[in-house]
Amino acid sequence: MSLHQGPRPSRDGDRDRRRLAVNPFHAAANPLGGMTEAPPAHRLPDSPLPPETAYRLVHDELMLDGNARLNLATFVTTWMEPQAGVLMSECRDKNMIDKDEYPRTAELERRCVAMLADLWHAPDPSAAVGCSTTGSSEACMLAGMALKRRWALRNADRYPAKDVRPNLVMGVNVQVCWEKFCNFWEVEARQVPMEGDRFHLDPQAAAELCDENTIGVVGILGSTFDGSYEPVADLCAALDALQERTGLDVPVHVDGASGGMVAPFLDEDLVWDFRLPRVASINTSGHKYGLVYPGVGWALWRDAEALPEELVFRVNYLGGDMPTFALNFSRPGAQVVAQYYTFLRLGREGYRAVQQNARDIAGSLAQRVAALGDFRLLTRGDQLPVFAFTTADGVTAYDVFDVSRRLREGGWLVPAYTFPPHREDLSVLRVVCRNGFSADMADLLVADLERLLPELRRQSGPLTRDKGAATGFHH
Ligand SMILES: *Cc1c(COP(=O)(O)O)cnc(C)c1O
Repeated sequence: MSLHQGPRPSRDGDRDRRRLAVNPFHAAANPLGGMTEAPPAHRLPDSPLPPETAYRLVHDELMLDGNARLNLATFVTTWMEPQAGVLMSECRDKNMIDKDEYPRTAELERRCVAMLADLWHAPDPSAAVGCSTTGSSEACMLAGMALKRRWALRNADRYPAKDVRPNLVMGVNVQVCWEKFCNFWEVEARQVPMEGDRFHLDPQAAAELCDENTIGVVGILGSTFDGSYEPVADLCAALDALQERTGLDVPVHVDGASGGMVAPFLDEDLVWDFRLPRVASINTSGHKYGLVYPGVGWALWRDAEALPEELVFRVNYLGGDMPTFALNFSRPGAQVVAQYYTFLRLGREGYRAVQQNARDIAGSLAQRVAALGDFRLLTRGDQLPVFAFTTADGVTAYDVFDVSRRLREGGWLVPAYTFPPHREDLSVLRVVCRNGFSADMADLLVADLERLLPELRRQSGPLTRDKGAATGFHH
């Protein structure tokens, strides 16, 4: 969560002054008698408010939030069927950790893990182990911890020692969760830079960064920056060759936050998952192309050997003795139930139809953006239903940050951002097509771009000064 500071003092220096405005209709309707007083914004009010008044205050303030369906920045699900909403509200009070109290919720979680193990071709689905998480970030922390512990167990004769530092190899395009993992768990992040028109990891370069302290290599399906799939099979082959040469046996984790729920349905011939013996673990975000509202992710290990037993906790104080592997303890059960509902509801064919529709829309939208003449595509939306584009050579009157800012006038959130090393010179716009972003909405977006372009072309040069504030890059 954002790290918030306390209230800034208001102009007259009194931070207690700031009060919420109560509509006189609600103020006068106080069932406790008298007029409802305006509650302070930054202190707990002294006395209760009637529920309707409290509801209005919160509801009205939230009207200023953006429209989730017009948010083309996020990968996270913004629409589910009403039936899923009903199930989720029925499970609001279920705590995922109370597996003894809610054994059926626990069973649905277990079935989801089994379905994913099958979908990702675990050689023996009954041997695969896995769990739900709050999202891919937690799943990546768990997978990274398993890699680190396995490496530490293999190197017990020389670690821990002052001069031995474990490292994790990845592309510079990793999602921020991997930088967090390395920071929090004191692992060196060895990043393969971008090079020319290669915007993700290069298998050979990754293998060259490996040494006896490498706990693993992360492959991403697909990249947050441009939606491209990293070549996981080639990465495994490069590491096979490394092992032949040097004896180093480096496992791979696949960060399938988005692609883990796209590739199995649309790219069945693409070999990226447990079919590759070197792939030890995989994560996905249930709340991205898993099509569930936020807070659910999944982490799976190929077999029990890939997840050291000593990381697994058993507690008996909730009754029962269920092994768990998680960073947090209590967690809502609703999202896991919604994931199971969606698996059951769509099946393979349903998921294929939904993801194909998103990819079709991404592909045709990318083509139409290219046809406008002012832009150059970096990706075409044919892997993740996501594409990135930049301004064409010769466009000097405006930049991608101007486009992002002007699109906001129509309610569209299309982020603009700079690429990481060695392509900091490149700034792009990115469009994420999700379920709920229809072909009709894509038409409206193109129409808005067509309307804006003549004005942008008349600018004397790029105008957006505060580039970060204008856009906001949503991983
Ligand atoms: C979104 C994303 C994450 C983080 O996932 P959350 O579910 O938001 O925690 C990690 N890796 C990749 C590649 C992602 O796209």
